[in-house]
Amino acid sequence: MNKFGYTKLSSSTVDLDKANFDVAKKMTEAEQSFTFCISCGCCAATCSAGNFTEYNLRKIQLMVKRGEIEPLREVIARCMLCGKCQMICPKGVNTRHIVLQVNKLLKAPVAKEELTDKLQPADDREI
Ligand code: SF4
Ligand code: SF4
Repeated sequence: MNKFGYTKLSSSTVDLDKANFDVAKKMTEAEQSFTFCISCGCCAATCSAGNFTEYNLRKIQLMVKRGEIEPLREVIARCMLCGKCQMICPKGVNTRHIVLQVNKLLKAPVAKEELTDKLQPADDREI
């Protein structure tokens, strides 16, 4: 984790013991365009929050898809909901709605309970 609270993304490592895919599943149900993203990075390049911090919407969407939820709790609130990312997205992803949904899902009791369960050390879990 770097000084901004991000877990560095790596294309080769996903910790399946800690991954939480529930948010991605619920996001797909709540906002279909979540699946349209091609990770081009146009949203991140134009992002107001990204100009001042390491906030990166392209990475955030990838992290949701990879089940890397916990680091998002701190960074997701940096979005100012200005909507610039949505205007520039070539795939028509409803990015503002995605940010709002991530916020909502991270605060939802069910997501927290599931996350707590997933983050238990492997030795403490019932198999
Ligand atoms: S601009 Fe759209 S397609 Fe490109 S990374 Fe952002 S959300 Fe995905
Ligand atoms: S709506 Fe949020 S993620 Fe999109 S450009 Fe504005 S600050 Fe960045």
